Amino acid sequence: MKYDYLIVGAGLFGATFAYEAKKKGKKCLVIDRRDHIAGNVYTKEQSGINVHVYGAHIFHTSNKTVWDYVNQFAEFNNYINSPVAVYKDELYNLPFNMNTFSKMWNIRTPQEAKDIIAKQIADLHITEPKNLEEQALSLVGTDVYEKLIKGYTQKQWGRPCTELPAFIIRRLPLRFIYDNNYFNDRYQGIPMGGYTKIVEKMLDGVDVRLNEDFFDVKKSGKLSDGTEVSYDKILFTGQIDEYYESKFGPLEYRSVRFETEELQVENYQGNAVVNYTEYEVPYTRIIEHKHFEFGNQPTTIISREYSSEWKPGVEPYYPVNNEKNNALYQQYADLAAKEENVIFGGRLGQYKYYDMDKVIEAALACVEEQL
Ligand code: UDP
Repeated sequence: MKYDYLIVGAGLFGATFAYEAKKKGKKCLVIDRRDHIAGNVYTKEQSGINVHVYGAHIFHTSNKTVWDYVNQFAEFNNYINSPVAVYKDELYNLPFNMNTFSKMWNIRTPQEAKDIIAKQIADLHITEPKNLEEQALSLVGTDVYEKLIKGYTQKQWGRPCTELPAFIIRRLPLRFIYDNNYFNDRYQGIPMGGYTKIVEKMLDGVDVRLNEDFFDVKKSGKLSDGTEVSYDKILFTGQIDEYYESKFGPLEYRSVRFETEELQVENYQGNAVVNYTEYEVPYTRIIEHKHFEFGNQPTTIISREYSSEWKPGVEPYYPVNNEKNNALYQQYADLAAKEENVIFGGRLGQYKYYDMDKVIEAALACVEEQL
């Protein structure tokens, strides 16, 4: 079998590329070493509930083109992400907004909140934030940092906040209105029926082979059933360091382990996402999947999320974009730039903490450039 593109990875980047390339008359083969499509946005139905198997995925974007693009493949519901944070015996709304501040300091007005935060920030004398801790402190002051950021961030990234890049925290907005919408984006929602259906539609009419290891295919020129394959170009959406056999050393990633269980109650925690922000609780958050789609099934499914350092054999989720890793990535990126017939895309291929909309944006730009 002869293809224009061998696409490695059936996640959002690979599927978007495949869909567009097919429209332009290119023949693509998509392979994935897992036994399912959709990468980490994969959802699976269980007891009538769409379970986000690799963690909560909430689609949000300010890019109308991307929003219209995904809406071709699914109808999105009106879910608005409003996580709740538990710190010891206290419960707060996220993102940091007037609901959070009024509960924390027993105040009511934006001015009172601003005064308290400004006073805490002034006492710290941070002129130029050098890391996540200083960035967070100089944005939100001591109380919010200590209760809602420090422990959670250290658990999620497995490193002290002083050793993490400041940009991670920019995802968390600070708001002086009573508004629990976690995202500032214009468009937001969950695809009704789950994410897997979107990717299924994208890959409709494209050759897809699962349980297929790229490195075996590359070496032998054959799929696992013996079919010979050739291709002009490769789109690789796996780990870029793995592609180059870690010749400069391995990049670091964070992984996540989920403990998922079905409970014989209708409503366990009253919200899709509850974060546990103190360091001593071993998991970072509990997801109750049905609430992403306003489900009223008789039972519920929850996942406790445990963060861990990535090692071979488990799934990588997050690149650790600190200075050391970014410098190492640059070495791989320099090699990648010299490749004539291999392109790299997605969170793992570009070692970038991409959201879903940014992945689609990047994939569309990549197609544009290629074709
Ligand atoms: N974060 C935090 N407290 C929270 C939630 C998030 O300090 O209760 C910080 C933490 O550093 C985390 C970052 O915000 O790494 C981004 O979190 P988010 O949940 O938005 O990212 P996701 O893990 O869903 O990609």
